[in-house]
Amino acid sequence: MKTILIAEDNPTNRELLRELLEIRGYGVAEACDGKEALAMVEQAPPDLLLLDIGMPLMDGFAVVRKLRENPRFTSLPVVAVTAYAMQGDREKIMNSGFDGYLSKPINSGLLVQELSRLLAHPNTESVPLNQPWEKQIGTRAARAIVNRQPKP
Ligand code: MN
Repeated sequence: MKTILIAEDNPTNRELLRELLEIRGYGVAEACDGKEALAMVEQAPPDLLLLDIGMPLMDGFAVVRKLRENPRFTSLPVVAVTAYAMQGDREKIMNSGFDGYLSKPINSGLLVQELSRLLAHPNTESVPLNQPWEKQIGTRAARAIVNRQPKP
């Protein structure tokens, strides 16, 4: 089983990512800040790291920089997860040691695309990929987010 470490300080976002990954058969571990993420990678390296940019103690840029200094982790796939939507952020992120980039709110199709691209044997079965994530999962958290969005 491929394991993915979710490093994200927002519990709702962690839960959503966990749902999206577990439904596809990935093993999931969670870190709540940058320091914890770094410690967890060193202790039990995942197959891929989903790394939030804005986190307490160490931000995503600092974590990926630290990881790339260590020969053990130069080729660990690290995908940035960020709410930053400004032009140029993608370039900055891709020049900072990340292998990929996902912006929030997470698009499950793009998430799957990144996993397929970066993992040798991704889990591709289950769940039609053209479904929006809120249709694929039924957690309280997902409903809370959906309910918060303005009605058309
Ligand atoms: Mn954050």
